[in-house]
Order: sequence, then C-alpha cells, then structure tokens
Amino acid sequence: MEDKVGQATSLQADGGAEAGAKPRDGPEEGPRKCSSSRSSRKSFRLDHRLEEDVTRSRRNLHGRFVNPWPTWTTPSFCAFLKFLMLEKNNSKVPSSKEVLDQELPVLEPYFIQKPQEVGQTGTGLRVTWLGHASVLVEMDDLVVLTDPVFSQRASPVQFAGPKRFRGPPCSVAQLPKVHAVLISHTHYDHLDAKSVTALNVRFGGELRWFVPLGLLDWMQRFGCENVIELDWWEENCVPGHDEVTFVFTPCQHWCKRTPLDDNRVLWGSWAVLGPSNRFFFAGDTGYCAAFQEIGKRFGPFDLAAVPIGAYLPRCIMASR
Ligand SMILES: [Zn+2]
Repeated sequence: MEDKVGQATSLQADGGAEAGAKPRDGPEEGPRKCSSSRSSRKSFRLDHRLEEDVTRSRRNLHGRFVNPWPTWTTPSFCAFLKFLMLEKNNSKVPSSKEVLDQELPVLEPYFIQKPQEVGQTGTGLRVTWLGHASVLVEMDDLVVLTDPVFSQRASPVQFAGPKRFRGPPCSVAQLPKVHAVLISHTHYDHLDAKSVTALNVRFGGELRWFVPLGLLDWMQRFGCENVIELDWWEENCVPGHDEVTFVFTPCQHWCKRTPLDDNRVLWGSWAVLGPSNRFFFAGDTGYCAAFQEIGKRFGPFDLAAVPIGAYLPRCIMASR
C-alpha cells in the first residue's frame, strides 16, 4: 500500500511540484505548522489530485460545487411535494422513553469508565459511537472525533428544529483529550456551532480541525485556530504524529446551512491512515464511483463508519 501511494503520486513541496517521488515515510524537511491553512502544500508533500484516475472536485459556472457522477440526481419539486403531502411516517422508532431505553440504551462511554486507558490500544483500535455521525476513534496514539454534535437539535436554534431521539452519551467536558476533529460537510446534523465552540474552548489551538474546502472562514469566525482545509484527495496530519495521514476523500452529497449558501462548501469523507490501522469515515453519502477509487488507494480499512437508514423516501434520498 505504502509503495503504491508513493509510486502513483507526484511530489508537492514548498514552491510547487518537484520531479520524481520520494517515499511517503521519508525524512521531514522541518516541523509542520500548527496554524490554519487553506493549502496543505507547505506541510505535506503528496497530492493525490495530480493522479489521472481520481475524480476531482468540480464547480459550476457560479462557483458552487457539484457532484461529478451520473449517480447523483436532483429530486424534482413534484417528488418533494408528493413526499410532504402523501408520505406516511414510516419510522419504527418507539415513541415511549421506556421502549427507547430498552431498544437503544444510551451507555456510559468506556473513556468515562476508564479514562486512564484512553488512547492505549496497542496495535488495535477502539471506537465509541456518540450518536448519529459522531464517532470517537482511538488508534495509533491518536484520539479522533468525527462530526461532533452534542446539542439536542440539528438546527440553527435550540428551541425548534429536528430533535435527536437520544441525548448524547456524554458532554464535551467528559471527553478525553481529542487530537483531531474531522468535519464531513456543513449540514446542521454534522456541523454544530455549539459543539465546535465548546470543543474550541476546551482544547483551543491544540486541537486540529480537518475541514472541507470552503469552510476555513467559518471555523475561524468561531475562534478555531488550528484548521486544515482540504480539497478531495489532499492530505495532512496532526503535528507530532506524522505517521498518521488524514486524507479528505470524495462522497456524493451536498451542503447547505443558510437559504443562499447551497454547495459553497465542499462535502466529503475521510480516510485516516496509520501504521497499524486504517479508518474510513463516510460522512453523508449516496453510492458513487468514488468508493472504488478510495478503496483502491487506501483500503482495506480496519474500521468504516458508514451512514445507514436515512433512505426514505427512496426517490429523494437514494442518491444522497
Ligand atoms: Zn447531510
């Protein structure tokens, strides 16, 4: 795998591309920067966008990102109207708290029960599902958190909007030290301003945020200082942990937080590649050809966090 990446990739260094490819685990030329960056060039050398057979991110004439696969479809207004007017609630989620507690109990996370053992996984890995797309992964001496949402509602306000069925199993204050947060896209159930603020207050510039292209300004507005913004197939790492590579990889979805910001920010998935373990976080996605490209380059994975269940109504949700 390491060889394949090294062979297939051009070298990117300060000042642009150099001829030839060096091994991925070769000596570093200097310490990696800790501050926010729009480009990974200064701190990292590989750029998979230069490969011929990867699907690159694409924008339309208005500068909005688009899904570059035929598997993406935009639902018609009629289909949406039909869904609103005629679709019954097919959810089998129990409404009573007692049944919910039985069917889907919220347990105290392992890192609260045994904080002294956090991150000590040897060559193995440990994963804790914190609800929806929030997953805490301990692997290769790093603690990584995906799409952190600790709020009760996925909404710009907390008095209205979609409410979670189960509360979060812990608070930001109860988390162990987190080294990196991965953000897949800007929908409210994946990017929660309150949780970002709380994590930033707790960990400050020590916490590295890996975010999609177009999100750096938003993160800085919320006070985050250590943000790496990446395009599809770009990669970077956590300072002091060069052996683990974080690659922003494609997926088939979209972005929106306000009435006018549709697809201004890119969406994607993440591949975390360590010496002992490989973790894939899919974000929100429909099926597309990108998964073959990701698997070919970075697979097989030891752990994959993949969204399931949000596929009704089929005519609207299948491709996203
Ligand atoms: Zn989404």
